[in-house]
Amino acid sequence: MNVQWQAWRDRRGDRTRVLSRQQARITELVAYARQHSPYYRSLYTDLTRDFRLTDLPPTAKPELMAHFDEWVTDPAVRLSDLDVHLADPARIGTLFRDRYLVSTSSGSSGQRAVLLQDEPMRKVANTLGALRAMPALGVGLVREIAARGGRMANLVATDGHFGGVATAEFQRAQRPSRADRLRVFSVHAPIEETVAALNEYQPAMLGGYATAQVALAHEQLAGRLRIAPVLITTGGEAIPAADRALLAQAFGAEVRNQYGCSEFMLLTFACALDRLHINDDWAILEPVDDRGHPVSPGVPSTSVLLTNLANRVQPIIRYNLGDSITIDPDICGCGRQYPTLRVQGRTNDLLELQAPDGTTVRLLPLAVTTVVDGLPGVRRFQIVQTTPTHLHIRLDATNPDAWPRLREKLTTYLAKQGLGTVEVTLDQTPPQRDPSTGKFKLVTVAKQT
Ligand SMILES: [Zn+2]
Repeated sequence: MNVQWQAWRDRRGDRTRVLSRQQARITELVAYARQHSPYYRSLYTDLTRDFRLTDLPPTAKPELMAHFDEWVTDPAVRLSDLDVHLADPARIGTLFRDRYLVSTSSGSSGQRAVLLQDEPMRKVANTLGALRAMPALGVGLVREIAARGGRMANLVATDGHFGGVATAEFQRAQRPSRADRLRVFSVHAPIEETVAALNEYQPAMLGGYATAQVALAHEQLAGRLRIAPVLITTGGEAIPAADRALLAQAFGAEVRNQYGCSEFMLLTFACALDRLHINDDWAILEPVDDRGHPVSPGVPSTSVLLTNLANRVQPIIRYNLGDSITIDPDICGCGRQYPTLRVQGRTNDLLELQAPDGTTVRLLPLAVTTVVDGLPGVRRFQIVQTTPTHLHIRLDATNPDAWPRLREKLTTYLAKQGLGTVEVTLDQTPPQRDPSTGKFKLVTVAKQT
């Protein structure tokens, strides 16, 4: 059956049909991986015929990357050749061996992955975008986007083969007639340059990194930027409620969340109720705790395992993404039965602090940020763990009282967690992006040097 027709037929996410579709695709994927990937063949040696997905051992990026040439199912693909492709910025968004779209990702672990998308994967991604993500925005919004010219501006890191820029450049090259409707803007470019380019481009949609969008919202409020996007999709990093409100107000636009990864870009789609539905006919997410056991809906996970049912060249099966998510326990009011999720953050940002008796107390990033988020006078903040007993706060405040107030709230919260001896100090550096990934993290652990 044809991919588009199936996606259209499954648009409401009817559970019986989607789950049987899912099961058939798992069986097919595992059979393919065993036949064509030496890595999976040896990993699945003891697999019985009537296996379930949860019987399969989880996989992890460091292990897969260490066995890259055995992981892929096309023996003509070698990591050493891919590295040559990746070293050339002129090849961003071009096909490797005329077949595979390549991207690199550091993801939540900070370790590099090299990811290939084959033709079936690209077809599924296009289909999910056109037949599921767009219609879910609602007829009114889609019409308004079209009326404003339908142009999309994506604010991403462009100085490497990252998923966002590689996909956009590939699509532009594929459909030159539509190239003008999709453009990427570098988050590292000087803001005046981006403002001038956007004033000329006049996008109907603004996507990409939220911190870059927020910087543009300030430009819009100051009158230097004059654009009228209808839709803003925020993705790639956590966004505080105040920033979300600022984006909506500055641009008079709808703000929708987005969650995906280089291993499966269109993991979710946002509906008119702004809930993130998982495309689980093509991608399975299994939230797990710190021992790798499944967690129930409504409970935040420590990590999540991804199975990509579309891509064959590089099977992603129960692959540890490292993100903390919560599957919602209820069905969304929009009527679609695809499960919805909330994203807490990346597990490498989990704080591991030391109590006076020497034990380690782990704090979820979201738990810590909600203590501080929304305090009056705080425009932006960033929590940096420098040692197991020390947090540095980077602060952009409009009010001199903001720091003592924030410090008091945070130390009170920490004391309740048995962390009364953890020191909280003000960092003179303003909040900033991770220099290597270009992403902004609210809670981050300083790398040991
Ligand atoms: Zn919904």
